[in-house]
Amino acid sequence: MSADEYNATVIQKILMTPGLMTLRVRPDGEAPAFTPGQYIALGLSSSEPRVKESEPDPTIYKRECLVRRVYSISSSSVDKEYIEFYISMVRNGQLTPRLFTLKQGSKLFMGPKAVGMFTLDEIPEHKNVIFIATGTGLAPYMSMIRSEFHLQKKRKFAVLHGASCSWDLGYRDELATMDRLTERFIYLPTITDPAKDPTWNGLTGLIQPITKSGILEEKTGLDLTPENFDIFLCGNPLMVDETTKILLSRGFTPDVKKEIGTLHRERYW
Ligand SMILES: Cc1cc2nc3c(=O)[nH]c(=O)nc-3n(C[C@H](O)[C@H](O)[C@H](O)COP(=O)(O)OP(=O)(O)OC[C@H]3O[C@@H](n4cnc5c(N)ncnc54)[C@H](O)[C@@H]3O)c2cc1C
Repeated sequence: MSADEYNATVIQKILMTPGLMTLRVRPDGEAPAFTPGQYIALGLSSSEPRVKESEPDPTIYKRECLVRRVYSISSSSVDKEYIEFYISMVRNGQLTPRLFTLKQGSKLFMGPKAVGMFTLDEIPEHKNVIFIATGTGLAPYMSMIRSEFHLQKKRKFAVLHGASCSWDLGYRDELATMDRLTERFIYLPTITDPAKDPTWNGLTGLIQPITKSGILEEKTGLDLTPENFDIFLCGNPLMVDETTKILLSRGFTPDVKKEIGTLHRERYW
């Protein structure tokens, strides 16, 4: 058991930095259907090597096993050829240092079914949406944007994306292009380590103060209220929790089980 469970092939790997990549995976059989925003499991055997940039695996494996974790899908649900993921390495993690050794043509395990409620399904068609993410928390939004944007719905999208430095802002070119092409799309990247990135001339600092700063209102031309927007938060749990507090004070209501509010959240760990 484990490597014989591999049922998918890497068809493209783009390494943005040694610890950040996009991976396109083609299942051996039919690609599982998914709703943009959902996630699916990836897995590799515990006997697979780890990349040299990682730290030793703290886990002692009594026998070979399949190490699985879930990843948000970043590709459009219209693409049936492959499923794309946006993955960052946790240096002492069990799975990610093994995932980073994969190359075009490598085999791996992909779960048969995508799941998750972090989608646009319950959001009224006319409602404007703000997507807020740290790091790879951008992945589910890429799937939603890539799947929905061509449908020419009337809503506005704003993306507020935080990372350490500009080279960690995955999908930046694609999002900046969309921002230039239409007034319906606003892209606001911010970096938290400008000392390392002296040529950066965009926003700096954490998501939390930027959410309070008034820039979302200025760029969208609308007040930050639950009447005007549904807001999605994804990524680092601290960002999700602290930004939730700010948005609760503005009247946004979180989803509670099947009761859909105006604030939708996904924590990555
Ligand atoms: C719904 C959902 C969707 C997800 N989608 C993505 C995605 O699109 N891209 C992606 O890269 N990850 C995503 N994750 C995280 C992913 O499932 C793994 O947790 C992550 O890749 C680490 O796996 P690992 O086996 O290498 O580390 P583990 O061995 O599981 O973790 C080692 C330690 O690192 C901590 N940790 C886990 N993840 C991180 C992190 N990102 N940064 C810092 N510390 C961390 C854990 O708390 C743990 O203590 C998602 C998680 C969830 C729940």
